[in-house]
Amino acid sequence: MSTDQIVTRFAPSPTGYLHIGGARTALFNWLYARGRGGKFLLRIEDTDRARSTPEATQAILKGLDWLGLDYDGEVISQFDRADRHAEVAHQMLTSGHAYKCFATQDEIQAFRDAARAEGKSTLYQSPWRDADPATHPDAPYVVRLKAPREGVTVIRDQVQGDVTIRNDQLDDMICLRSDGTPTYMLAVVVDDHDMGVTHAIRGDDHLNNAARQQLVYEAMGWDVPVWAHIPLIHGPDGKKLSKRHGALGVEEYQAMGYPARAMRNYLARLGWSHGDDEFFTDEQALAWFDLKGIGKSPARFDFKKLDNLSGQHLAVMDDDEVLAELDAFLAATGQNPLQSQQRQLLSDAMPVLKTGAKTFPQLLEKATFATASRPIEPDEKSAKSLDEVSRGILKELTPQLQNASWNRDTLEGILNGLAEAHGTKFGKLAAPLRAALAGRAVTPSVFDMMLVLGRDETVARLKDASA
Ligand code: GLU
Repeated sequence: MSTDQIVTRFAPSPTGYLHIGGARTALFNWLYARGRGGKFLLRIEDTDRARSTPEATQAILKGLDWLGLDYDGEVISQFDRADRHAEVAHQMLTSGHAYKCFATQDEIQAFRDAARAEGKSTLYQSPWRDADPATHPDAPYVVRLKAPREGVTVIRDQVQGDVTIRNDQLDDMICLRSDGTPTYMLAVVVDDHDMGVTHAIRGDDHLNNAARQQLVYEAMGWDVPVWAHIPLIHGPDGKKLSKRHGALGVEEYQAMGYPARAMRNYLARLGWSHGDDEFFTDEQALAWFDLKGIGKSPARFDFKKLDNLSGQHLAVMDDDEVLAELDAFLAATGQNPLQSQQRQLLSDAMPVLKTGAKTFPQLLEKATFATASRPIEPDEKSAKSLDEVSRGILKELTPQLQNASWNRDTLEGILNGLAEAHGTKFGKLAAPLRAALAGRAVTPSVFDMMLVLGRDETVARLKDASA
């Protein structure tokens, strides 16, 4: 492994589904690493035993899988690495960058009350910081970082710029609790260091943590990763993202029927831009993605944009890719898999179906004419167009279709001729034909349907409807 290799990671806490903000963080890390021949790692931050669940971990893995964000190596469990975290805390004790603090909760509270009464900072200042180890009692202790009290800590953030925090605003944070378990703040740093993470791209809700974490890097003499704290996602109205806005688990987007590549495109645009490009392929995103293009203000989630991109992606996807994603969509939503005949019909109809549909349910809706089996049951609206007169016209049409060459020009000629013979326009015939062929009022074009269905099926459906 070259020392210059870029290593990013996604480090979700498994306390719920993979939400849209997490998915975007994962995508940014994936794009950054994959676009540069680097590695993208996955670490599950499961140290909070009360809130972490295996179901949430599964949901995160499934979400990443659907989005196609593959990671290198094994999934790393932060909890499993507790011994290593403790080891580092002890190294800092030995090197004098950390100290044992024997203060009790009551003593800490008394310190804070007194500080508050005097109008001073309530950040705890432990009397054990400089105590002679000879004076240490035989009592439980926590390990605290001996943080600098003067000067400043500067986070050189690739998105936020230089963020300066006064060291007197940071306390001597606890690295190891009195039961010997590591704190989250220590664990993140040790893990990122051991995993060789070169770039930490994450939500800007972690910016404050970065200052404390950087002190641990400095105490250990480790290289600080490149920081990139990305603004959170807001709703289209600029308010905090809520369920109504789309703050859902990614699996719900899969269930709504968005193709994964459209979701990737949309998520990449949520907070990152490349000129005016809205629609792009994975290859383009991988080539273009950089930290410079990440905006400083919160991105706004907008379903309309997602729909729009989704429609554009469906239209250009290979037929096989559409079918494969459709299979996954049906499975994820608990629907029956496609029968081989339906699959064939869908495949034949794909050029017609792909355009104009924005999601898989819309595509399936368009495909009803192809997947339905005879006799076609017209829905309420389309049944109205199958009156006496139009049934008569359909009856007249069937023999003309029997021997016609099955191509668009001939079919157009026949239908226009028939309309003319009845002193009307083709448009008038379209509704009963849609009803007969698809049982619906809104369908792909009549000619497209006839060409996909073929002569026998078309004629049989027309006969059914005109009987
Ligand atoms: N586990 C944290 C979260 O889910 C992320 C920590 C990090 O990226 O450093 O918000």
